Amino acid sequence: MTQRRIASVRKAMHDRRLDALLVSSRSRIRFLSGFSGSHALLVLRSRAAFFITDGRYVLQSRSEVKHFRRCIAKQSLLEEAAAQRMFLRARRVGIEADNLTLAQYRNLRKLFRGTTFVPADDLVDDIAIVKEPEEVENIRRAAAISDTVFSEILDSIRPGVRERDVAAEISFRHKSHGAEQDAFEPIVASGERGALPHARATDRKLRRGDMVTLDFGCSHRGYHCDLTRTVSVGKVSRRQREIYNVVLAAQQEAINAARGGMLARDLDSVARSFIARHGYGKFFSHSLGHGLGLEIHERPRISAFSKDRLAAGNVITIEPGVYIPGIGGVRIEDDVLVKNDGCEVLTTAPRELMII
Ligand code: ZN
Ligand code: ZN
Repeated sequence: MTQRRIASVRKAMHDRRLDALLVSSRSRIRFLSGFSGSHALLVLRSRAAFFITDGRYVLQSRSEVKHFRRCIAKQSLLEEAAAQRMFLRARRVGIEADNLTLAQYRNLRKLFRGTTFVPADDLVDDIAIVKEPEEVENIRRAAAISDTVFSEILDSIRPGVRERDVAAEISFRHKSHGAEQDAFEPIVASGERGALPHARATDRKLRRGDMVTLDFGCSHRGYHCDLTRTVSVGKVSRRQREIYNVVLAAQQEAINAARGGMLARDLDSVARSFIARHGYGKFFSHSLGHGLGLEIHERPRISAFSKDRLAAGNVITIEPGVYIPGIGGVRIEDDVLVKNDGCEVLTTAPRELMII
């Protein structure tokens, strides 16, 4: 797998007339080399592949990293690259503009005079967003853990319980079911706080009549899942049920429409126009979804402004929401594998409104 990925990167480097590629982001390093630690660099040339880390990762890199020449730096990683002449005679070098700091960029310019550095952020991503079966299995495994956690935490959702306690329960259960970690801090937004799409869990206690939005996920072998359910505590008003049904039906429309070859912005529009037709258009304030993999948010972006086109093998979220200031919100999010003739939903938690 590693060799195939390296070969694909080299072909893309050739197409872009790059003599070398410097990879510095954690997830892209993991994708290309298998290294799961936090401090490393990769340098890819047409005939060489270098992996640089420091003394903390000697043993870990020995077991995880194959098909690269491993270098253990005694100085900064970039200085090591210079000392080992990894960019020898390289005129054009691709870098990750979305990941390098200005200080690192200045350092690069100083260490490698005469080399032109060009942004090549999407070079590895173009390859990584089409998942191989093994990667989909990792996401499926993460999704199965979060689905189980959802079914288990329903017991702890009742009047008087703080949002913070529900969030802690989610994190604890993720780990006890074998997840590597939370994909992000679980979001628990109850009552009027549900109008904040990315609310952090607070000391607020759940009350009868609250809708509670739970957005959480975990990772398995580096691959993430991302799940949102909105449940109701005790009773539900007609308005709340109406909003819930609009969001649920909008999501189902998008799931029915998703397939390889379509523009991501057209998929966004399926859900957005449905919600607008039902009078809640201005309350759907974010994009429909995002790609999912070694990063919790990656391409393809599923938004009205996206230039991405969906391809079989993409794993994306479909997560419409309606947020009404002063009242609350509803979001429903599932992860789907895009196929040529449709999509497969990877998350299996029930989607109908649960009244607890
Ligand atoms: Zn989410
Ligand atoms: Zn999401």
